[in-house]
Amino acid sequence: MIILSVNAGSSSLKFTGFEMPSEDVLISGVFERIGIDNSFYTIKLNGEKIRKEVELANHSVAVGFLTKELLENNIVESLDEIKGVGHRIVQGADKFDKTVVIDERVLETISDLSPLAPLHNPAAVVGIKAFREFMPNATHTAVFDTAFHQTMPEEAYLYALPYEWYTDYAVRRYGAHGTSHKFVSIRAAEILGNKDSKIVVCHLGNGGSLSAVLNGKCIDTSMGFTPNAGVVMGSRCGDIDASILPYIMKVTGMTPDEVDTAINKKSGLLGISGVSSDSRDVEMGAEEGNKRCILAQKLYARRVIEYIAKYYCILGGIDMICFTAGIGENSCATRKSIIDGLKVYGIKLDEEANKTRGEEIMISTKDSTIPCYVIPTNEELMIARDTYNLSMDK
Ligand code: ADP
Repeated sequence: MIILSVNAGSSSLKFTGFEMPSEDVLISGVFERIGIDNSFYTIKLNGEKIRKEVELANHSVAVGFLTKELLENNIVESLDEIKGVGHRIVQGADKFDKTVVIDERVLETISDLSPLAPLHNPAAVVGIKAFREFMPNATHTAVFDTAFHQTMPEEAYLYALPYEWYTDYAVRRYGAHGTSHKFVSIRAAEILGNKDSKIVVCHLGNGGSLSAVLNGKCIDTSMGFTPNAGVVMGSRCGDIDASILPYIMKVTGMTPDEVDTAINKKSGLLGISGVSSDSRDVEMGAEEGNKRCILAQKLYARRVIEYIAKYYCILGGIDMICFTAGIGENSCATRKSIIDGLKVYGIKLDEEANKTRGEEIMISTKDSTIPCYVIPTNEELMIARDTYNLSMDK
């Protein structure tokens, strides 16, 4: 059975085609600059990468090119062979606690949630409509970034703000990267051989978030009402004192939009280092002795350490700490700073194993009190698995 895993952004469309249940990747790629000039797409097929410059007026045109490629490359003989299409949705708020089959009501709810994810949910709706047009007989599913975090208790997801802000304006913690946290925590439980486990997942990419997973259920996460909460990120500030914002607006005359841009696009590693939002550049700067790069790295590690320490108490101990996503899977220096900062718990880094990048491996020593692992994430596969299961149910 062929399942497509799809991620539609406002001007992009990423896709991966899986053979299920074997989970073999048949094709993957991305359409870029949809609705803008100089649009193109790249496809990975049989170990080769092909790039084509084409006009992509909208998502529907992009899906048209995708179907053409699927047919011409003999991935399918007819589009009816695609039994399921899983759509990644950034914001499901408290309306969805799992992956669901998309019907008109689901589509409307995703659209209604747009004020909470103005850049993402409208794009997802456009993507769903485009795929339904070409593949009307497939099971279309909505896989929410927020769903995995819906098991958090009230005391974890509520802010100590006027209660009406929650009841009237839906202000609460929703979290993000849920599909990744779910994928990695399932794999961690498999490694431990125990579903009943206390796992901390550190998803450290351009955006970053941690989650505390108790017996397979998320009980806390670091991202909040928006993805700008928790740890230091590439260009997002993460946790700050909320009163800084009105203060800065008063003293500089900045507008709410300008402040929003500053905390999302000019902060984090970029804001502190003044060099880059990319951890590789910051790492290089630090190696060359750039003081602000060194400081940015310290701040980054410290915030992750603080969350792990907090989750140790909330979970009542930790059975495994997992590192994933671009920085978590590849940055040996960042993992070292974090694990060294957790010495007080008896956690010890295996320096040799920690030199590995992008592979599943234990990076703590055998006598470390808590095992630490790198577990590469695979959100596309998680989307395909959920979609496959729902397609089988139908
Ligand atoms: P996104 O949130 O955009 O999906 P990724 O998970 O791809 O982000 O992570 C991007 C981050 O991973 C960047 O900061 C990049 O510098 C970092 N990264 C990727 N490869 C390496 C590496 N070899 N060493 C250090 N950092 C890396």
